[in-house]
Amino acid sequence: METTGNTGRGVKIRILKTGTVYLVGAGPGDPKLITLRGMELLKTAEVVIYDRLAHPSLLSYLAPNVEKVYVGKASAHHSMKQPDINALLVERAKQGKSVVRLKGGDPFVFGRGGEEAEICKENGIPFEIVPGVTSAIAAPAYAGIPVTHRDAASSFSIVTGHERDDSRESGTRTAGAAEQRRQWNKIAHAADTLIFLMGVEALPDIAQRLQENGRAPETPVALVQWGTWSRQKVLVGTLADIVEKVRAANLKPPAVCIVGEVVNLRTTLQWFDNLEQRPLFGKRIVVTRAREQASGLSDLLRSKGADPIELPVIQIRPLEETQELDTALKHLSEYDWVILTSANTVPVLASRLEVLGLDARAFASAKIAAIGPATALALKEHLGLRADFVPTEAVAEAILQEFPETDLAGKRILLPRAQEARAILPEELREQGATVDVIAAYQTVMDTEGAEALQTEFQNGEIDVITFTSSSTVKNFVQALSPNAPAEVATYLKGTLIVAIGPITANTAREFGLEPHIVAEEHTIPGLVGAIEAHFTKEAVHA
Ligand code: SAH
Repeated sequence: METTGNTGRGVKIRILKTGTVYLVGAGPGDPKLITLRGMELLKTAEVVIYDRLAHPSLLSYLAPNVEKVYVGKASAHHSMKQPDINALLVERAKQGKSVVRLKGGDPFVFGRGGEEAEICKENGIPFEIVPGVTSAIAAPAYAGIPVTHRDAASSFSIVTGHERDDSRESGTRTAGAAEQRRQWNKIAHAADTLIFLMGVEALPDIAQRLQENGRAPETPVALVQWGTWSRQKVLVGTLADIVEKVRAANLKPPAVCIVGEVVNLRTTLQWFDNLEQRPLFGKRIVVTRAREQASGLSDLLRSKGADPIELPVIQIRPLEETQELDTALKHLSEYDWVILTSANTVPVLASRLEVLGLDARAFASAKIAAIGPATALALKEHLGLRADFVPTEAVAEAILQEFPETDLAGKRILLPRAQEARAILPEELREQGATVDVIAAYQTVMDTEGAEALQTEFQNGEIDVITFTSSSTVKNFVQALSPNAPAEVATYLKGTLIVAIGPITANTAREFGLEPHIVAEEHTIPGLVGAIEAHFTKEAVHA
């Protein structure tokens, strides 16, 4: 594929390349169940095409400005048709883009991944398959149901609950052929454990056919809805009564249906949705710390069963005026050191080098310091460069203390970083005799996009808890959620439990009209989580 691009600075560039399509399994829901390869590709994708069974929080790992295309809503009317998805994959790849097709579970388990790979092959587009953890096994696992067990099952089969007649859509199949292929006498005895995907609508038919073909009416059956998601629901019955139970509970797809003796093991092995072990199961809790600091709190909440929602209130934006940065990059050879204090700086440098017609060789004579492993990794991924120095702790103070060169007199140091950053690093380096050029590479701005979506969820009472771990998280949150009318935030939070880590944070919340329901007695992250846990345990006892 050959395209001619204009960089916007009057420079014409010619690109000769075809992009690659990556068919990536997102896993069954729980975002941590994606593979390392899948995550790696998400982070470097230029286009991501995803559907509703891939957990939305995976998208928070994408670089800024990545094209996101949502191709599947619950209702068929809103989903993009397969031929259109195929066309999109081909078109974006031909533009030279790295395209991630993110699919729930495993791409080759009833995911139409095979068809999409065929299309790539036909069009000469390189592709890669990244298998995923399939819901067929993971949803039962999170319900405490092992698909095999020495005492209960030595085989399992994964079966589609219905064969959609999509001959008209794809033009590749004979009408009704798929349904005719189903031989229930064989399916009923295909394995000890039968696992049906897409089986909720057809459940009455499935239960009846299995019994007609010799499966006992008392055979245990479980339905796991939204398996591995924080909203997971499990329904247990038998072939004889499961249809009625599903109707009574008004259980809707997506659900995995498991038929066989292994279902009984849930009585002993239930863990994920076990309220005794995981008292915050299903609670949706907003975490407002800055992204780099959020994961500790999120992980602890997750281990108690909660569904942490990280509100990324800060967004990274390139600067419009890049002349200063460009000049520095053109003169990289004059610097002894380049110090990178954030992973965010690296893609900005990479893209400016590209525009300037330069590449990583521009760094040849300068040594590079990276503030932490994430920055070092970004350096490797974006520029193929290895950091010469990474301090043991990712803070400016550690760079100063551990800097490998003791005599900085006369050294020239380039410090490209956020427009609004702390002064300590350049000041101290200058104190030691270095010449430091501090150059703004990007700016951080309030990220209101995530907050707007949350506004609706708050208003609908879909957020159980909001946590504040410092006064600045309160301020950032209020500004992100309601920049023009801070006083309105209190009305959004009517149905939400407000939790503060300590009295100072609580007072800041009150200044914005938010009266905390809980102020942690121990002002630490575990103390905060413990207080939330105690609240819900008490509530469960009183209920
Ligand atoms: N490729 C996917 C399956 C796609 S077919 C995989 O490997 O998991 C879509 C069906 O998968 C749904 O109708 C439902 O039966 C099942 N499914 C997918 N994710 C699920 C989940 N988290 N919980 C329960 N069922 C799920």
